Amino acid sequence: MSGYADLRALPSVDQLLKAQAVLPLVEQHGRTIVTEELRSVLSEIRSAVREGGALPDTNGIVASLLGRLAYRGRSNLRPLFNLTGTVLHTNLGRALLAEEAIAAAVDAMREAAALEFDLDTGKRGERDSHLRELLCELTGAEDATIVNNNAAAVLIALNAVGAGRQAIVSRGELIEIGGAFRMPDIMERAGVGLVEVGTTNRTHAKDYIKAINPETALILKVHTSNYRIEGFTAEVEGAELATIAHEAGVLLLNDLGSGTLVDLSRYGLAKEPTVREAVAEGADLVTFSGDKLLGGPQAGFIVGRKDLIAAINSNPMKRALRVDKIRIAAMLATLKLYRDPDRLGARLPTLRMLSRGQAEIRAQAERLAPEVSAVLAPKGYHVEPQACSSQIGSGALPVDTIPSAGLRISAPSGTALEALAALFRSLPRPILGRLQDGALVLDLRCLTDEVAFLDSLSQGATHAAA
Ligand SMILES: *Cc1c(COP(=O)(O)O)cnc(C)c1O
Repeated sequence: MSGYADLRALPSVDQLLKAQAVLPLVEQHGRTIVTEELRSVLSEIRSAVREGGALPDTNGIVASLLGRLAYRGRSNLRPLFNLTGTVLHTNLGRALLAEEAIAAAVDAMREAAALEFDLDTGKRGERDSHLRELLCELTGAEDATIVNNNAAAVLIALNAVGAGRQAIVSRGELIEIGGAFRMPDIMERAGVGLVEVGTTNRTHAKDYIKAINPETALILKVHTSNYRIEGFTAEVEGAELATIAHEAGVLLLNDLGSGTLVDLSRYGLAKEPTVREAVAEGADLVTFSGDKLLGGPQAGFIVGRKDLIAAINSNPMKRALRVDKIRIAAMLATLKLYRDPDRLGARLPTLRMLSRGQAEIRAQAERLAPEVSAVLAPKGYHVEPQACSSQIGSGALPVDTIPSAGLRISAPSGTALEALAALFRSLPRPILGRLQDGALVLDLRCLTDEVAFLDSLSQGATHAAA
């Protein structure tokens, strides 16, 4: 029982709180937190000593305290390196904002702003008015409104124009998007009866025409964001659907999902339908996301006919789904960048990353491979540059990939590879790659700060062992 004797030499919490090395920590984190963590440290030491461990000196105790405080202070929302190859990764927060948008958000956070106040008249103003004009200019729509996200946009639009009546949807477009967004469920919550037409692979104009009845409020067209039906297929294009809807006196709502404001082929990517095209085809309302290809903060837009937007704005759900001043400020700054398409590709991070050429990324991989290898090879890992494929993510061009390059890290065993991936996730600035064909692939398309990356990597390497 010699361990018990040692424990009497252990300083008390009160003594430690007064120690030179602890005082600045109390200043920084507050007495409550430091006291709590000291109790835990001392209790761990007591258990260790009872099992025959050595008694640490004050320096050792402070080191444990520092470790606990650092761990406690760090958030799961800390910045990370998205080297998964999915540029707009929903689970990683989708679009990164342009510097202009970040600056605008910071200003809006720090100061009061005339969010719902008209500085010309001195009267109450409208929250949406800040964005309306720009959205109309960029999409060619008559009017526009903004809500929390595109799921909210679809929900409120359906409710405002179709509650108590029916909407016709093609069976090929009854989508489910990650996170329980299922079109049939949304329609139910919106109070709209779902009328399915056509088949999974083929829906024709006559299917829609036959289904229209006095209860029909609208035809809903949905962008099949995360899958593509191939082979023997048929769908009715937006322009024809608009004609069918309008001849029957019902509305056409087009949920574009990602909804780009520019022709992506201009930036070397495959073409996605633009919002302007959907409006020009005759859709009465078009919904799309703010944080997918558009490259702004999370938001949902509804653009279209003035009377319908007015109905949406006066729907009680609008108040529950509204957007705060920080996001409106960031969104406004993002949309303004679209007025200058020549520089958009350089200023909007989403487009900048998506349009990086494979040769440039390959050169980056070749430059980084020896440095990464220097860190990981001694632990038994093998690192080499490798061609790979990125994808846009978030339901844009679901089956198209973009040629990219990265680092392929292989290990002597599957367990060693999993261990490395876990270690990368636990870093102060985590590195996320993807496990593929028995290797950990780091797609470098989204890597801008190489110095920070190598820094993070060498911090991790102190622990790595294959
Ligand atoms: C992504 C998407 C949604 C949901 O948009 P959020 O902005 O994630 O709420 C709805 N419809 C389609 C077609 C989508 O692609």
